[in-house]
Amino acid sequence: MLYWEKEIETLSRKGIEKVQVEKLNHIIGIAMQSPYYGNLYAGMGIKPGAIEKIEDVRKLPFTTKQDLRNNFPWGFLSIDKKDVVRLHSSSGTTGNPTVIFHSKEDLSNWANLVARSLFTAGIRDTDVFQNICGYGLFTGGLGFQYGIERLGALSIPAGAGNSLRQIKLMMDYGTTAAHAIPSYLTRLYDVFVSEGLDPRRDTKLHTFVIGAEPHSEEHRRRIEEMFGVKAYNSFGLSEMNGPGVAFECSYQNGLHIWEDAYIVEIIDPISLEPVPDGEVGELVMTSLDRKAMPLIRYRTRDLTRFLPESCPCGRTHRRLDRISGRSDDMFIVKGCNVFPMQIEGVLMKIPEVGTDYLITLETIKDNDELIVEVEVKREWFSGDLDKLDRLTREINRRIRDEVLVSPIIKLVEPGSLPQSEGKAVRVIDKRVKI
Ligand code: AMP
Ligand code: ZN
Repeated sequence: MLYWEKEIETLSRKGIEKVQVEKLNHIIGIAMQSPYYGNLYAGMGIKPGAIEKIEDVRKLPFTTKQDLRNNFPWGFLSIDKKDVVRLHSSSGTTGNPTVIFHSKEDLSNWANLVARSLFTAGIRDTDVFQNICGYGLFTGGLGFQYGIERLGALSIPAGAGNSLRQIKLMMDYGTTAAHAIPSYLTRLYDVFVSEGLDPRRDTKLHTFVIGAEPHSEEHRRRIEEMFGVKAYNSFGLSEMNGPGVAFECSYQNGLHIWEDAYIVEIIDPISLEPVPDGEVGELVMTSLDRKAMPLIRYRTRDLTRFLPESCPCGRTHRRLDRISGRSDDMFIVKGCNVFPMQIEGVLMKIPEVGTDYLITLETIKDNDELIVEVEVKREWFSGDLDKLDRLTREINRRIRDEVLVSPIIKLVEPGSLPQSEGKAVRVIDKRVKI
């Protein structure tokens, strides 16, 4: 089956805005069935039909993660509970989790978006697609599952972890494409190597879909090199369904964000005004197709920018730059603002560096220090102390040039850093808070 929705994906800007205005007016009416938007909008005199042109979306208030938490669990539900068929939820580290409800129609629309996205990344109904991630409340499992089936490819719902089993599935069924989080794929490669296997030679893999966590361009290139595949960036968040929100096309030049399903804004997180086109700010999204629980002007906290120029693939939906981090990922150490992705970008360019790293912030003798533990490739982790010493100094210098803080570098053996089954934990803050 072809999942190239040409008419929608190549709409003119005017055409896209027309669809958005119509859908937004409709969705305001639906959202007002929920206790939260019902009270809020009635109090502000907002009614369906209030939107005449797309800029009018700015008349509506933002919705934040805190609003979701404060109204947990049912406050945003816009339809009868009996018509809700599934929920997904992200496990908050503090307070209530974020829960999102879906109707049957919502799930079908979501599957279409994922199928469209997979097609955009070159996956076809002839592919064998292994979905390597947790099936449960995390949206990557079921989200991709229904999208793969909608596309018509053969799905292998492999689940997360158990690398030997993943490899066996790949070899037994001739897996050609797979989805996984990038931090897992580099570890999976190490298991291939330790089994005496080479994924380039011993598998039929040609495409990976990677996402769910921030990763650098360098990390992507490494994955491509290790497995002999093209790896496409996939962006999504449970509040906007999950995967299928924005995806790279064969040009790998940013993520097309599906503007018939979402209104996308990028704002300055302090002034809350739109940033000038092309500048980095916080992504704000409105879901246009979800009926059980629409979210309007949701502040994602993800930082990105619109990429200028049209894409040679012909799709007109705007492209987002790789997510550089979340506004709450940033940490301040010795007066400098640092994003973990800056450090990853530096590390992945150094050939001796292995697959994993861990940033720890720690108070040592009353000073806050930036400690970076870096896995070194096995062939480098030898007894040659001079060589390791030179490498330590080189990594220190390059990170200092990038983030303006001199880190303490600790080289460690491959596989020795703690591993999580889900998204990678990149930063641990042990500082003494005064
Ligand atoms: P969750 O809703 O728990 O699946 O988490 C969604 C969050 O994961 C997003 O808001 C982003 O912060 C992050 N995320 C998802 N996909 C990507 C991606 N391709 N690149 C960077 N961060 C991502
Ligand atoms: Zn494109």
